Amino acid sequence: MEPLIFDLSVPGRKGIHLPEPDVPLADMPGELLRDSLPLPEVSQVDVTRHFTRLSQLNMAVDTTMYPLGSCTMKYNPRVNEDAARLTGFAAIHPLQDERTVQGAMYLMHELQKYLAEIAGMSAVSLQPAAGAQGEFTGILMMRAYHADRGDHKRTKMLIPDSAHGTNPASSAMAGLTVVELPSDKRGNVDLNALKANLDDTVCGLMITNPNTFGMFEEHIEEVCQLVHEAGGLVYGDGANMNALLGIVKPGEIGFDVIHYNLHKTFSTPHGGGGPGSGPVAVNDKLKDFLPGPIVRVRESEDGEALCEWYTPPKSIGRMRAFHGNFGMLIRAYTYICVHGEAGLRAVSQHAVLNANYVQARLKGVYHFPHGERFCMHETCAQGKVEGAPEVVALDISKRLMDYGFHPPTNYFPLPKLVPEALLIEPTETESKETLDRFCDAMLRIAEEARSHPEWLKEAPHTAPLKRLDEVKAARELVLCCTIRD
Ligand SMILES: *Cc1c(COP(=O)(O)O)cnc(C)c1O
Repeated sequence: MEPLIFDLSVPGRKGIHLPEPDVPLADMPGELLRDSLPLPEVSQVDVTRHFTRLSQLNMAVDTTMYPLGSCTMKYNPRVNEDAARLTGFAAIHPLQDERTVQGAMYLMHELQKYLAEIAGMSAVSLQPAAGAQGEFTGILMMRAYHADRGDHKRTKMLIPDSAHGTNPASSAMAGLTVVELPSDKRGNVDLNALKANLDDTVCGLMITNPNTFGMFEEHIEEVCQLVHEAGGLVYGDGANMNALLGIVKPGEIGFDVIHYNLHKTFSTPHGGGGPGSGPVAVNDKLKDFLPGPIVRVRESEDGEALCEWYTPPKSIGRMRAFHGNFGMLIRAYTYICVHGEAGLRAVSQHAVLNANYVQARLKGVYHFPHGERFCMHETCAQGKVEGAPEVVALDISKRLMDYGFHPPTNYFPLPKLVPEALLIEPTETESKETLDRFCDAMLRIAEEARSHPEWLKEAPHTAPLKRLDEVKAARELVLCCTIRD
């Protein structure tokens, strides 16, 4: 166990000297003073080392490749941070008069425009705070659209079985009944099952493309057409946009609404519960229902461009306080400007190339359920090794940590679809050398699984803590330390 900062305390030791006060000393009211306030008494060097060491106990994208499928843990360029720290952005207040924050509003306006263009949609709201809230926003808009047309029967949401858990959760939160659609052998949504479930009670279909097997839906245009013919709308879960930038526009395929995860596709830092951002982009059918406030530009009396807040006429209302996670909007905007159109296209091309490289190198040794197809930006393997029946995906993941790699996503897609799933997403920001080191480690682990399975069963050997109850750790976070007497 790492020591607590209190364990390093020595009575009388100090980290800094406070300057002499330059105001007269005043008496504090006695009832506000505590008799005892245990604080650690430590030197500056001890504090610095303690917290720097703690910061290195977790694996992080700044220290290692982080191939966490579906989450797009790409490198966060530092120029994004420079932009977000500019005083004109970092020191403004959301209640300031709009005439004094025109630059910030213009940035939001430009980001709305870029995100609409990338998705092939007509309008964007930057409000939602994460992908899941973007889903909830989109579904509320779909409901409002049907209600506005007097069509009140539409209470069903169709969702493929490969979907992320937030999809059925958001639909249920919005009061809809979820109908699960099976996948076919090639990793597409099953067209016959879709047709069998389409009727006038369908609110819409919620689908991720490429899906969470890392497969591009081969019939996606037909899927959208079928849903539309039945009077439903198509929701696109845009978490996997890293495969499509500058290549495929969901709006042109037939999607009516998608959310982005700026913290995935556009490199704003996430993990450890950090701030997300889940803007929604919609086509003409849904643009009047977007949550406000949105930024629009109009011409002032003296001919100047002026940004103003705007809430669409049939808006579903606010989804969040103020104006979204503004710091993340700055970072995503910076990322888009730095890359430009050709750069964004290259991001997706390299993300797809890297995932296929990993798939090709691991294919003979690990089983890829859809390995007969090229994958998109991520690939789904089975964490099983021939000749090592007791070894499971979790053992391989934990052993990867000994080799200095963050594990891939485990047990998603669900075990009923891919037993012992390892969803590997290398991202475009890894070099060929790093991809090779990762593949070498995976191949060596497969050998170890046969020769020394206990090395895997007992892994990780290098981490400060071994196997944790991850559900308990997430649900019952301990955020403060108990002071030992
Ligand atoms: C990450 C993810 C989500 C949820 O997004 P959050 O930003 O974590 O709320 C939804 N669907 C898919 C496929 C994802 O990978």
